[in-house]
Amino acid sequence: MIRDNIRKLLEELPPGVELVAAAKTRTPDEVLSALDAGVGIIGENYIQEAVEAAGVVGGRAKMHFIGHLQKNKVKRAVELFDMIETVDSLSLAQEIDKHCRRRGKVMSILIEINSGREAQKFGVFPEDAIELIKSISLLENVGIKGLMTMGPRFGSPEEARPYFIETKKLYDHIKVLDIPGVEMKSLSMGMSNSYQVAVEEGANIIRVGTMIFGEREG
Ligand SMILES: *Cc1c(COP(=O)(O)O)cnc(C)c1O
Repeated sequence: MIRDNIRKLLEELPPGVELVAAAKTRTPDEVLSALDAGVGIIGENYIQEAVEAAGVVGGRAKMHFIGHLQKNKVKRAVELFDMIETVDSLSLAQEIDKHCRRRGKVMSILIEINSGREAQKFGVFPEDAIELIKSISLLENVGIKGLMTMGPRFGSPEEARPYFIETKKLYDHIKVLDIPGVEMKSLSMGMSNSYQVAVEEGANIIRVGTMIFGEREG
């Protein structure tokens, strides 16, 4: 079933759009099925689950961190992931930079935009993003590659569209600014219920869990 879901998704996606299998709460066996079906990127929200997933991934796919990263987990995250999609503060970026410097690594990151301007959500407000990106761009061991947004969690896919449009506008604007050391090439938007709208509005990374693995328990 996981294989069929992934095959369908991969056939449907336009060229240039990458699929992240959002694997939170899934077992290593489920992650393995996703890999066998041709998923190129595994997304993880929790370090502990990522350690288990990394065991079956074994370098066959990229690993993206898509959860909220606590400072005391940064060291492990730097070891495990190819990209951290959810950087929303200078202090978090500095912590990533510090651990990457020790490992001689440059971490690719996306800046998480709180496009819904929801107080309880993570991410930087769109109007504060450029200042944050300019400060992070001075760090040598992190590389900004683009933006990520969640959009509203509930509601119809159409309700997410304005948030995706706004994030794409910001992405294009930052690209034009041509800030030294900042690349705008990845735009991660859209989940199971909203990925089609996200792709229509310019996402080139989508993060899909439920549609691949089924409903999560609890
Ligand atoms: C869980 C999760 C997803 C996938 O959500 P689904 O609705 O299961 O597709 C995408 N992005 C993030 C950040 C997530 O935590």
